[in-house]
Amino acid sequence: MSTNPRAPKYVFGPVPSRRLGRSLGIDTVPAKTCNWNCVYCQLGRSHPLTNERKEYFPVEAILAEVRARLAALSPDPIDWITFVASGEGTLHSRIGELVREVKRLSDQPVAVITNGSLLHLAAVREELAAADTVLPTLDAGDPDLFRRINRPHRQLTFEQHVAGIEAFARMKPRGRLWIEVMLVAGLNDSEPALRRLAAVLKHIGPDEIHLTLPSRCPVELWVRPPDAAGVQRAQSILGVKASLTPPPAMLAATGHAAPVEPDLVAIVTRHPLRRADLASLFADWPTTRINALVADLLAAGRIQIVERFGEPFVVAAGLRYPKWNAAIDNETGT
Ligand code: SF4
Repeated sequence: MSTNPRAPKYVFGPVPSRRLGRSLGIDTVPAKTCNWNCVYCQLGRSHPLTNERKEYFPVEAILAEVRARLAALSPDPIDWITFVASGEGTLHSRIGELVREVKRLSDQPVAVITNGSLLHLAAVREELAAADTVLPTLDAGDPDLFRRINRPHRQLTFEQHVAGIEAFARMKPRGRLWIEVMLVAGLNDSEPALRRLAAVLKHIGPDEIHLTLPSRCPVELWVRPPDAAGVQRAQSILGVKASLTPPPAMLAATGHAAPVEPDLVAIVTRHPLRRADLASLFADWPTTRINALVADLLAAGRIQIVERFGEPFVVAAGLRYPKWNAAIDNETGT
């Protein structure tokens, strides 16, 4: 039951991932601690918006949970162990030790999903080099669009961001750098914007380019995915390495099982879910049990329901969505 006070804090899943199959997630920072405040972020506004690296959670506590969860899963297969934070995971100052120790604990490949904003630091590049795959974000090919989409901390610049990813690309073995591009209608789906982005990506030379769409609970109400023509334009301009990541609706068809011990709060702290998708996540639960779980967690103030695209999404309590949390409706977002 998800209200278990001993429920995991740092490790969640395994959950079906759009890119990484059945993935055990590791979180390294409190929700929603980030140095960007992306308009499409599914976890609400960044609070705090910070660029400070420190040991947000004790390394030993994280690793104790990883060991326990791996032991509980055995021999249940997972495809990946993924560092995917409810903010920016590389803000954790000991991320390198965590990656190396997780590699030692498991034979499964380790991925790090990051906005890539700290790759300009040689220390961070060294820390992430131990991962099997690193997935940084690059949504824009120019400084203005970068600021408008990602709304970074004032210490961070577009030039620095691109230089960091380029430097990392030069030190990673082939096959290990996958760039994520979130397409947002009216921002980076025009031909000029895509051509600028393509030029930067060509210079970086990633192994794969993953196009994603803001289909899951974007923080800003006006954010929309591009139409079919916009997606096709992106694929054609960004080239053969670019492919569209399957939408969450396709996850049910992958045959991956639900979490071993479903902890809805742990999952939605990192991945908001459509209310309608709970049935496929907890496939062996009757509807009455799912409804009771949601009602209990709402009553306990552990989750909230946020509407986007006319649909209800289950998200963690405390995340900040304008036009939903009245107190932040007037924030500028940066
Ligand atoms: S999408 Fe990622 S990088 Fe952007 S604000 Fe959210 S957590 Fe930070």
